[in-house]
Amino acid sequence: MNTRLGLALLFALAFCFAIGSAASAQQTTSLSDRQMPSVITIPAEAQPSDSFSAEAATNAYLAQIPAAARARSDAYFEGGYWLILWDFLLAVIVYWALLRLGWSARMRRFAEHLTRVRVLQNFLYWMQFMLITFVLTFPLTAYEGFFREWKYGLATQTFGAWMGDQIKGLFIAIILGGIVAVVLLEIGRWLPNTWHIWGAIVTTSFMIVAIMIAPVFLLPLFNKVTRLDDPKVTQPILSMAKANGIPAHDVFEVDASRQTTRMSANVSGFGKTMRITLNDNLLRRGSAEEIQSVMGHEMGHYVLHHIYKDVLFLFVVTVVFFALLRWGLRYSLARWGMKWGVQGTTDPAVIPLVFLIATIFFFVLTPVSNTQTRTEEAEADMFGLNASRQPDGFAQAAIHLGEYRKMSPGSVEEWILFDHPSGRNRIYRAMRWKAENLQLFQPSQKP
Ligand SMILES: [Zn+2]
Repeated sequence: MNTRLGLALLFALAFCFAIGSAASAQQTTSLSDRQMPSVITIPAEAQPSDSFSAEAATNAYLAQIPAAARARSDAYFEGGYWLILWDFLLAVIVYWALLRLGWSARMRRFAEHLTRVRVLQNFLYWMQFMLITFVLTFPLTAYEGFFREWKYGLATQTFGAWMGDQIKGLFIAIILGGIVAVVLLEIGRWLPNTWHIWGAIVTTSFMIVAIMIAPVFLLPLFNKVTRLDDPKVTQPILSMAKANGIPAHDVFEVDASRQTTRMSANVSGFGKTMRITLNDNLLRRGSAEEIQSVMGHEMGHYVLHHIYKDVLFLFVVTVVFFALLRWGLRYSLARWGMKWGVQGTTDPAVIPLVFLIATIFFFVLTPVSNTQTRTEEAEADMFGLNASRQPDGFAQAAIHLGEYRKMSPGSVEEWILFDHPSGRNRIYRAMRWKAENLQLFQPSQKP
């Protein structure tokens, strides 16, 4: 089985490499007509006046988007809805097949054959599980993460470089995920009646550690992170931080253009490692007002403690998941355990079943988790407008982000499928803010 698998992987890679190189060579030329316009003027309807209307200003901003760019963005984002479904179905089929065909039990036997040390056996099982699921889901991963990104003009990497990132990601998943898997299997053995409670606590603790080390140890494996030292950019940002009680001395820049054309920024880390990072696409293509509005938004995440709230949310979700897992494992193993050759909840061969249950759980939870993040994003938007006082900069940012996010979805569509407010809503809220603060924008009234 192992040689056949290796050959299949090799073929898949060679095939993708050929098509990938062709795709990336072909697409680099016509990028600009697919991107959202970078020089956006404040439309007449959004200029301060006695008849200022947030609705009219929003429509005027949206009218600046070329029809082709809008159609492209809609197609990209709507295609993403289907990918949620295909990802889900493929994962379910792969995990189920590993159990049903007895491969999971075979991988455990192979690990037992290699060593007698239980913890090592479990880790070796995990390695095989990660490798085989990586290979079986690879065609969809490559389509989604590489070919499709090129098709929509969002990618900048050659196939080789992209593949390098995938291998690094796999390596991290093997090491960090392996530690979690081994610890959880041991907990199952020591605490057979309460493992689901301890499992939830330990899993959440590992998540906190992962969030904490991500900006310092994980991100630098993929990108170069530097301290931003252009005072023209940093001075207004640090001033805004000071005004809002944020003890920041540094702003970080990440060379996201290595992988993508997307503009973005984020707050990452936990406790002492928490920081705000801008990506170089935003710095290169965004206006000064736009950058300040985005930084105001990121400061909102920081001041409103969104990372801590996320962890709390994840903890609740994890507790519910482990309760469901306990029930799901008992039910499934009683019915099919013998047939699959899975000996119980502490047998590593149970791992595909755990992933199968997790996949179904998180798929069903999609609207809930999207709403949780979207709500925080809307809060950060409000904070950002108040802190930066750049509603037009924020409208420009919303249009730029529209390169990869549908601008004007239906309200149910937004509620279920958007993890950020839609571009239209963001521009409307910015213009509503401007309508109530018009005195800030009338030069005649300034001293
Ligand atoms: Zn945000």
